[in-house]
Amino acid sequence: MTLTPRPHPGRSVQRGTTSSRRLLAALLLAVGYLALVATTAHANKDQFCTAPVCQSAGDFLTRTVNMSRKRNETCTNFHESVCDGWRQLVDKPDHMSRFSVLAKIHRGHKARLRGLVEDRGSSAAGTPALKQLSTLYDQCVANAFPDPETVPEFKAALARWRAMDLSTPLGVHRAVLEGMKTGGNFLYGLTVDANSRNSDEMAVWAKQGGLSLASPKHYTDRKYRSLYLDLLQHLFADFHLSGDAHAVLAFETEIARISDSPTNLRNPYHSKPVTEATPVFPAKLQAHYTVIMDSPAYFASLKDLLAHTPTRTLKQYFLVRQLQAMLTHMHYQPMLDFRAKALHMKPPPTEEYCLSVLDRYLPYLTSLAQLQDRDAYPGGKHDWVRMQTDVQDMVERMRETYLQVVRESKWMSPATKNTALEKLANVKLVVGGEPWMLDEQAVLEFYRAYSRRVSWYATFMNFRIRDKIKTWRKLGAPNKRESATAPMVVNAFYSQPNNRITVPFGILQYPLYHVDYPLPMKLAGIGMIVAHEFTHALDSRGRRYDLNGNLANWWADKDLEQFTQKSECYVDQYNAFKIHGVSVNGRLTNAENMADNVAITLIHRIAEQALYSPRVRILNEHGTPMPGAQAFFTAMAANWCVHFDVEAQKTALLHAVHAPSSTRVNGALQNLPAFEKTFKCPKETKRERCTLW
Ligand SMILES: [Zn+2]
Repeated sequence: MTLTPRPHPGRSVQRGTTSSRRLLAALLLAVGYLALVATTAHANKDQFCTAPVCQSAGDFLTRTVNMSRKRNETCTNFHESVCDGWRQLVDKPDHMSRFSVLAKIHRGHKARLRGLVEDRGSSAAGTPALKQLSTLYDQCVANAFPDPETVPEFKAALARWRAMDLSTPLGVHRAVLEGMKTGGNFLYGLTVDANSRNSDEMAVWAKQGGLSLASPKHYTDRKYRSLYLDLLQHLFADFHLSGDAHAVLAFETEIARISDSPTNLRNPYHSKPVTEATPVFPAKLQAHYTVIMDSPAYFASLKDLLAHTPTRTLKQYFLVRQLQAMLTHMHYQPMLDFRAKALHMKPPPTEEYCLSVLDRYLPYLTSLAQLQDRDAYPGGKHDWVRMQTDVQDMVERMRETYLQVVRESKWMSPATKNTALEKLANVKLVVGGEPWMLDEQAVLEFYRAYSRRVSWYATFMNFRIRDKIKTWRKLGAPNKRESATAPMVVNAFYSQPNNRITVPFGILQYPLYHVDYPLPMKLAGIGMIVAHEFTHALDSRGRRYDLNGNLANWWADKDLEQFTQKSECYVDQYNAFKIHGVSVNGRLTNAENMADNVAITLIHRIAEQALYSPRVRILNEHGTPMPGAQAFFTAMAANWCVHFDVEAQKTALLHAVHAPSSTRVNGALQNLPAFEKTFKCPKETKRERCTLW
């Protein structure tokens, strides 16, 4: 799609008779064009979308706005002025510490999926995908969260761990691998992904290991230490482990101490080649494959730590960590208490848990079953194609605007600018899912080995092991550059190594998207998310990769200096936000914040050019329809409303790469002059602005 043409004020006009005539013709054309724009504007200005989905979205937003007690905070805390009403209208499920619009959509998917697997008479009941899911679901519901005493595989695994030889580095490495197979993530994790220096090739990524507590910082917090010690003491007593819970806590505290910060882990770009570092895993692995470490400093310290740790302590550590990994999926009260108090995680109802497991390990199958449901997609494949084409059109429009915004920027040298434009022009897009994921035979073939075992626990373990095998098979093969994201995932992604955006069907849902929405409503919903992903191509991380997804410095020194300065402006600005008295980490969340800022600029520019019309009818507190720009910002903010428990939010601030939703919305809007203008914000609410382009 093309944008509305705009006159170029800076263009010079040639002198002379012919030129005068040309000038006159151009002037007449321009007058005609302006008249046309004016009529279109007039005709469009008060057009409302009357589709049922628009009416229900409009009604909901009207109620949201009217219920908000924080309306006077429009200019200082726009998120709260919309979301205060949202929280009164939307209930949070008890077991969730965070409940967002995305989580609500996800829950809606699960409810539909449950309807499908439980209702054997539904339209999709006869499909092989659903038959397979129904069998597994029944087995899970009847046997989920078993008592560990009753699970023979659990006892066998425990016996194996007791017998494990951890006296040599190779023995330790084997224990790490064994843990990985069954869902553990101890001293370190190994996974397979594209090589950041050569994205055609797949590499082994060695990552800093996980911890029992949610953040390394919790190991110095008396409350969290005592919660963990309590769990450890129960494990030692109930499973007859010899040794001392305090020694394990001390060892894990050391691991927390040497753990790299989430900010450093966000930027694994090492000047040293990886082979020069001192990894703990065997040299053999490095001889065969490219190994990339997310934190060479962590691996170096870990090597020292292991050299000084008695085998006995190491063994106890592995045993208790493995017990935790297994018991998370069983009924064991001390583990439930620990997860609730220290990790802010409560177990969902059994049916929901079972659907989550199926969704986690058989995502292409659960996606297919939902897509084959005629109640949700009455037109079948035609509906899928219609959405795909619609979103592709919107993204192309977004791309043109993005290119225009970068082209107009004043601070980049032509060479750097051209490379940036080239990268944006080459961002690839997957909407819905890859063709094979929409093909029943291909999906069934993909899960051939994922069948039901004798007990639910064995079935579950089989899922996990198969999953790992599939990941490891990618090693040694070229990067196929396919998106692995299942069609019903409720999220969108930008992949650095592939310079590609993926927008699954799962997120193309009400209230973020409907094919019948008018353009401004689509932009305020899915548009904001897609534009955010698009921006990752050139945020503080994305700028380090070239258009082929390889780490490369294509920046002229002066341009890089300017970029860094602009990016630092956002770091300082976001550092100033506080949630429950805790500061937001502007550096950790920098790339995401930059993406939000550019995204709002892009979607706002397109919506403005479309004169915000036709639009969804939202009534303000006086009962009159909101002007287009106000409706646009309100709809956008409402998509970022969230319920969040205080303690869980404080913990998230320590490690989450996204700032809290309120900061994301308010932060991006404070940098957009149009927002201030729209709500006629008083001078005293104005703040210092950051801009990238
Ligand atoms: Zn992002």
